Amino acid sequence: MEYDEKRRRLAERLREELNLSERVYNAIKKVPRHLFVPEKYRSEAYVDTPLPIGYGQTISAPHMVAIMCELLDIKEGEKVLEIGTGCGYHAAVTAELVGSKGRVISIERIPELAEIARRNLYALGYENVLVVVGDGSLGYPEEAPYDKIYVTASAPDIPKPLIDQLRVGGKMVIPVGEDYQTLYVVEKEKNRIVRKSWGAVRFVLLYGEHGFRNPEE
Ligand code: SAM
Repeated sequence: MEYDEKRRRLAERLREELNLSERVYNAIKKVPRHLFVPEKYRSEAYVDTPLPIGYGQTISAPHMVAIMCELLDIKEGEKVLEIGTGCGYHAAVTAELVGSKGRVISIERIPELAEIARRNLYALGYENVLVVVGDGSLGYPEEAPYDKIYVTASAPDIPKPLIDQLRVGGKMVIPVGEDYQTLYVVEKEKNRIVRKSWGAVRFVLLYGEHGFRNPEE
C-alpha cells in the first residue's frame, strides 16, 4: 500500500477513536510522517506507535500528537512554543494548524536532531517553524509570550520559565513525572494557574535546568 493511503487510513482511524476535529484530522492526514523517520522504519511510519529516531530519542506516536493538538486547541495565526523538536514531525503538524500567519518555535537540546528536523521541515517547505538548539526547560524568552506551549518530554514539574512565557489566556500541555507520568493541561489566568490532569502517558525525559539531571553529564 502507498504511504498516502496508509496515512489516510491512520488519520481516519484516529478521527474515529479520538473524535478528532476536522482541523487536527486534516493536519495528521497531510504531514508525511514517513519522511521524518529513519529509512529503516519507513514501512512502520503509519503504525500508531513511537519509533526510534537515534540519539536515544523517539518520534511521538500519531495519537499522542493528535491528542496534544486537540487539548491545546491551536488556532490559525497563533505563536506556539514546542519543547523537544526531535525529528520535527509534531512541529510540522502544529505548523499546519497555525498556518502561514502563525509561527512555531521549537527547542531541541541535541544539535544533531535539531539539524535533522531543520532539514526535514525545510524539504517540505515549512517556513513558519524556527528550530533552536538549547535547553527548552528555560523556554525561549526571545519570542515570548506564546499563545500555546507544549512539551514532548516528561518534566519533574512544570518549569516556571514556561509559565512565565505563556500569555494570559494561553494554554500549555506537558507530561510530568519520571516512572509514572501524567499529562497536564495548564491554563494561565490573570492571577492564577489552573492545572488539570488528562491521564497517564509515557514520554522520554526532559533534561536541563528545570528538567531531570542527565545521567550522561
Ligand atoms: N516532537 C517530537 C516529534 O515530532 O515526534 C518528539 C520528540 S521526543 C519524544 C522528545 C525530545 O525532547 C527529544 O528529541 C529530546 O532530545 C528532547 N529534549 C529533552 N530534554 C530537552 C530540553 N531540556 N530541551 C529541549 N529538548 C529536550
